[in-house]
Amino acid sequence: MADSNSEALYSLIPSVDKILSHPRINALLGRYAQAVVKRILIATLNDLRNSIKKNQLTPEDLAFDSVVGRICEMAERRLRPNLQTLINATGVVVHTNLGRSPLSWKVAERILEIATSYSNLEYDVEKGKRGQRNSHLNSLIEELTGAQAILAVNNNAAAVLLALGTLAKGKEVIVSRGELIEIGGSFRIPEVMAQSGAILREVGATNRTHPRDYIQAINENTALILKVHTSNYRIVGFTREISLGELVEIGKEYKLPTMMDLGSGCLVDLSPFGLPDEVTVQDVLSTGIDIVSFSGDKLLGGPQAGILVGKEEYISLMGSNPLVRALRMDKMTLAGLEATLQEYISQVGPTGSIPTLAMISKSPDELMIDVQEITQALESELGDEAQISVEQGVGRVGGGALPMSDLIGPRVSIKPKVFSAARLESSLRKGNPAVITIVKEDSVLLDPRTFLYNQAQIVPRLIVDAFRRIRN
Ligand SMILES: *Cc1c(COP(=O)(O)O)cnc(C)c1O
Repeated sequence: MADSNSEALYSLIPSVDKILSHPRINALLGRYAQAVVKRILIATLNDLRNSIKKNQLTPEDLAFDSVVGRICEMAERRLRPNLQTLINATGVVVHTNLGRSPLSWKVAERILEIATSYSNLEYDVEKGKRGQRNSHLNSLIEELTGAQAILAVNNNAAAVLLALGTLAKGKEVIVSRGELIEIGGSFRIPEVMAQSGAILREVGATNRTHPRDYIQAINENTALILKVHTSNYRIVGFTREISLGELVEIGKEYKLPTMMDLGSGCLVDLSPFGLPDEVTVQDVLSTGIDIVSFSGDKLLGGPQAGILVGKEEYISLMGSNPLVRALRMDKMTLAGLEATLQEYISQVGPTGSIPTLAMISKSPDELMIDVQEITQALESELGDEAQISVEQGVGRVGGGALPMSDLIGPRVSIKPKVFSAARLESSLRKGNPAVITIVKEDSVLLDPRTFLYNQAQIVPRLIVDAFRRIRN
């Protein structure tokens, strides 16, 4: 009986030719290569046959429109780009998992312009001959930081690798035990050191390192003294670290280059925004240190990059290391980095034009405007399905920067009444666009600090949709 039943079902499956003539499939063929659409069509028909074998289908499932609907759904799922934009409602500005720093449209347009054209990437237009990819940022970085030279590579991990591999291959690098850090995504100082071929010479104790510890470790095989920003953690209590001034003095006395891996690489004083602890690249360079490295997409607010600045003699040595070829940045990133640095000399200034810095500098009053817009919309849309309130939020800079600094401001708290906050959080992730939130106890929190453009206006609709998906 079951067999003749499935025989009957098999015969209901529409023919490939008939499916291909359906207007919705025709529309797919207008967008995607025919071979790709056909493969999806055949895979869907195979799925249907398997489901018939398992007795999972009714004749209605095999109706022509229903089969076409399945194919379109599968095509939609498989063929749309996987990388998607989403809304960051976590309040963590440089969110490592969500792409760190978003760029402004102005910077993105510059990338578009260079990407879609030929350019003087490695050509000297004046002399009419080969030019240097590294030369484009020189005068801008000198203007901004006073550095003699700059070399930009793929990311800061690459910058540190290049510096160590150039200056200390087979030789010793002195680092304090308190600075042997691991940053998320498996960047560990001892491991980068090993990869570069340099030999790690740890000095001091976890909580205290003195100038004499560095001095005692110096020998004829020492090549570099390195200081590392302990980006994502702090040692507090009975502590001592050597100042940059002391480091530079030791370097001068023993004729050794000194370097600081600064991590975030902030170019502006953030103390007016309640973040007093972050030293700027200029501050660090003014101590007389030889090399500073930092990321392009943390507090700088630009594209992913690793930036080495400092004394010409060391930067040019690194520039002629063959490793540069493997670590170099591409023209799009270079265009984005140059455009970002230009915002620092613009009339509006970086906190007005660079999204990362604009978010960090949002005032509680500015945030309150968004918070009220959202709470009012939700109260009228959700009625008694949820308890909506406003609470004091503590955002974070993120990206391993300023772990002890809170970004204070109001945020929205949504406590659903008939299901858990975890269900709401998960439903919000399935929206289009997805909204990424934080769950605290039995509430979902929305921090408008990390909203871009008009997102505060579209978020209420996405929340209402998320509630509807759970209800249905
Ligand atoms: C973030 C960070 C790095 C790694 O930088 P990427 O740009 O992510 O490669 C290295 N060192 C420090 C101190 C950092 O904070």
